[in-house]
Amino acid sequence: MIIFMREKNIPPEINFKKDGVQYCWLGTAGVYICDGKNGFVIDPYVSRHGMARVFLGLPLKPELCLIKQWADVLGNPGYDAVLVSHSHFDHLLDAPFFALERGVPLTGSSSTAMAGRGYGLDRALIDEVRPGDSRAYGDFTVTFIESAHGPAFAGRIPYPGAIGAPLVPPRPATAYRLGTTFSFLVEHPLGTAVHHGSAGFIKGMYDGIRADKIFLGIAGRGGNTAEYIENVVIPLQARTVIPVHFDNFFRPLNAPMKYVPGLHLKEFLETASRYNSFDIVFPPFVSSSSFEAQTLFSGN
Ligand SMILES: [Zn+2]
Repeated sequence: MIIFMREKNIPPEINFKKDGVQYCWLGTAGVYICDGKNGFVIDPYVSRHGMARVFLGLPLKPELCLIKQWADVLGNPGYDAVLVSHSHFDHLLDAPFFALERGVPLTGSSSTAMAGRGYGLDRALIDEVRPGDSRAYGDFTVTFIESAHGPAFAGRIPYPGAIGAPLVPPRPATAYRLGTTFSFLVEHPLGTAVHHGSAGFIKGMYDGIRADKIFLGIAGRGGNTAEYIENVVIPLQARTVIPVHFDNFFRPLNAPMKYVPGLHLKEFLETASRYNSFDIVFPPFVSSSSFEAQTLFSGN
């Protein structure tokens, strides 16, 4: 058995291009998006606690040293906000400290806001949003669309409910209740993308909305791959699907990527191949010592 030392768990160098809209997949539903001037981080989770610790109900400590290192890596080019799609630990655990490190808002549901309060964020850095709200970050406009969580665990949504009081870390996974589930519509003069972090949906949620590309959480689909694609990818008329949240997030980020148990990747790819309206582009994993930011939309 290989044990990965926490102190070796340092972030890689990331090479960002100067023009266009770039992104990095950070593992889980974590995505960093920037255009060289402005940017934001979605669901950053770098502490990556092991399965035993999570399922034994032990407290999950945000790894502050690692978060600071990652915040420094993403701090150049920089980010204007930290967005949280829902309040499970693999989306929220580290997010308030990413916000604190750069003095930018933690943006999400009332449950996410409760974590912001418990982690000691200044009120000015807690940006509670409701479905339909929008925020501008330079040339980016992000709109918060209500979604639903996938039936990720034995056909059920794990840790349902909301965080109703300030959440002070470290707390076990069970303290990180779901709260509102959001997807993010990201509009930029160079293109439109959607971040859909959990494999559930609300019928009609994308009525009247189009996106060129979609970051699609593919774990925990509960066997409804066709229905998922037909309610999320097809209505958006997305031409590119960038799968996310398929890595085993119980392993550290510097370990070679493995697929999360129960992913059924082959079934996903077979089902997706029945549709000819979109391509699937898997993003590179961050475990290499240096890697390139990916182009989401090319510059003019
Ligand atoms: Zn979740």
